Amino acid sequence: MNPPTANSATPVTDVRVREVGPRDGLQSIARTMPTEAKNRWVAALAASGLRTIEVGSFVPPKLLPQMADAAAVVQAARGLPGLTVAALAPNLRGARDALAAGAQELVIPVSASNEHSLANVRMTTEQAVAEAQAICAWRDSLPAATRPVVGIALSTSFGCSLAGPVSEDRVVGLAAQLAAGGADAVHLADTVGYANPVQVKRLTARVRRELGGKLGAGHFHNTRGQGLANAVAALEAGVTTLDASLAGLGGCPYAPGATGNIVTEDLVFLLESMGLRTGVDLEKLIAARAVIAAALPGEPLYGHLADAGLPKGFVYAAGIA
Ligand code: ZN
Repeated sequence: MNPPTANSATPVTDVRVREVGPRDGLQSIARTMPTEAKNRWVAALAASGLRTIEVGSFVPPKLLPQMADAAAVVQAARGLPGLTVAALAPNLRGARDALAAGAQELVIPVSASNEHSLANVRMTTEQAVAEAQAICAWRDSLPAATRPVVGIALSTSFGCSLAGPVSEDRVVGLAAQLAAGGADAVHLADTVGYANPVQVKRLTARVRRELGGKLGAGHFHNTRGQGLANAVAALEAGVTTLDASLAGLGGCPYAPGATGNIVTEDLVFLLESMGLRTGVDLEKLIAARAVIAAALPGEPLYGHLADAGLPKGFVYAAGIA
């Protein structure tokens, strides 16, 4: 029953689980979590064994007041041993601010859907691609030791709530263009929870054939209950990084009842049960939910594992270290 993190600071992992709750989850709810609670939450997530956490978004506070303290949260997270601190930045200015605060991994959103791009970042997809390429050029101009990892999150890759279906040829073409433009990785994001597993496997496999090692994370929302099935489909197509949010925090301030990202604790349980090592201690992960519950009373917390508990006789993929 010993989790694999018990005896090893850097356990071997088969799948990197990137926690995005402090960014994607918090920016999708109306209320703002106090900075001190964010710091406690990030520390609890890191203590569970998660090694990459997207802790905030560098956007104007006027647009996203929930993220106004992103620099302070990045700085606090940098004090946690063994953690890669990631942050979202929609433009070069945000990327510079994120790096100045100490972020080691940047996530730059580019919407495959032009309609979503205009609504989300007030740029056409073409302009967002150019901005992403400018960020990659800026990264290349930095001294090698200070360069952040730059990943592009290709939003609405599987469908768009404004435009409807998104052409797979367009997604593959954009992914290839962004990789050629210097992105270290291209993440495929089901931003609005439209994807199904057959689609995920097909499109992810196509992007992998095009990008090879630059295929980034699978980013799935559980809006319509398909999130974990889509995560498995992405694994089958060669993805080795999956995004998730503790307690599935998130949703949409304008759609009551809409759920957020796939649930980190359910995802880790799924992976470990399937024999894939994550390096994450599930009991510590479940305990971290208390930080959200205390800081945001009444906010819906999702997930089945926290309710049902670990099955009798459960063993982690790595066995007893
Ligand atoms: Zn998302």
